[in-house]
Parts: sequence; structure tokens; C-alpha cells
Amino acid sequence: MSDAVERASALRAYADETASCTRCVLARGRTQVVFGVGSPDADLMFVGEAPGFHEDQQGIPFVGQAGKLLDRLLAGIGLQRSDTYIANVLKCRPPGNRDPMPEEIASCEPHLWRQIELIQPRLVATLGNFATKLLSGKPLGITRVHGQEQAVTLGGNSVLLYPLYHPAAALYTPRMLTVLEQDFARIPELIERAQATTPIGTRDEPAPPPTPVQPREAVQLGLF
Ligand code: URA
Repeated sequence: MSDAVERASALRAYADETASCTRCVLARGRTQVVFGVGSPDADLMFVGEAPGFHEDQQGIPFVGQAGKLLDRLLAGIGLQRSDTYIANVLKCRPPGNRDPMPEEIASCEPHLWRQIELIQPRLVATLGNFATKLLSGKPLGITRVHGQEQAVTLGGNSVLLYPLYHPAAALYTPRMLTVLEQDFARIPELIERAQATTPIGTRDEPAPPPTPVQPREAVQLGLF
């Protein structure tokens, strides 16, 4: 079996295991776990915040208004969601779509690290503050860092981390939408760069354990 086929099968098994997760209180209010969707071997992975009402109902990330905008932005650079993998920091819907709590992020993050380990993306685009702060390990907000790619090690592989505004925020702020479109336009070039700079063979080596997570501030972090 090829490495990619093995990783895809391990990802499916992990999704099945995660479907009954009770690591945090969100398990009580969810309709279902929203694990992730897309190509298990994608070079481009998006990480959003948490499922909303429609995602919780359908079990698929980004199917509401923000998801429609994400699809439109992808089409603008010649991609479909099936060319990518899409996941969230939290796999279960917070009640009333409130912000994720630090303890929920801490409980859920092993799922995201495992997804990244198995998918081995080259470019990870974080959508909004929660994903950006978690995956960068830094407290800098999205307004400061959007559009600025940085080389990091995630899931044992070198990847380019690319923070973007959250599409839900851009839906209601035209200026933010313009910036998001401009940042999105650089994605094809960044994928090429990430493909060229990842040392050959790296993706086939067994992944070491996930990178330790930086301590977070015990405050809620907004979309911006
Ligand atoms: N917003 C997110 O961050 N994730 C979703 O899946 C939907 C909306």
C-alpha cells in the first residue's frame, strides 16, 4: 500500500474514533462531530474555528454562508474544496455559536494535530484568530499577521502557515473581504513555494509526536 493510501485509511479510522469523542462538554449539545472534509492527501489545508448550526446539522465544515464565501474564494484561484482539506479547531458546535473556550481548545487540539500529521499538507491556511493563535503558538491577532506566511513545523513536517481573515468576518465587512481576496490570490504561489522547499522524502518519514502547544492566555479570543 502506498504511503498516501495508508494515511487516508488512518485518517478514516481516526474520524470514526473521533465520532464518539467526549473529551469536553460540547459533546453534550452537539448533533454530531464535524471532523473534516476534503482530500486526505491535500497540499492545502484550511483550519477554521468551530462548526456552526448548519455544520452541526450536516456534519461537514463550512456549509453555511461563510462556507459559500470560502467556495467562491477557492473558485477565484481555480480550486474546489475537494482539492483541499478543511477542518476546524473545535470539532463540535459551541452553544449559540459562542467563542471556543480555552479548555475546549485544549481538549480538542489533539484531533487537529493528528489530522495534520496524517494529511501532511504543505500550506496550512488558518481562518481567523483561534486557528492562527493555536497553530502559530503566538498570541498575535489576525489583523496583525494576516497574509504573512511563516515556515513552521506542524505534525512533524515543515509547512508554510498562512493566516487569513475568517470568511464569516469578511461577509459583513467589505474592506476585510477585499483584503481576504488579495491574501487568497497568493495561495497558488505559496503552494508552489511550499512544494519546492519541503525536502524530498520528508513526507514519507514516520511523523514524530505533535509539536508541544504553547501555553495560551486564559481569555477568550475574538475573530480579529
Ligand atoms: N465557521 C468555522 O470556523 N467553521 C465552520 O465549519 C463554519 C463556520
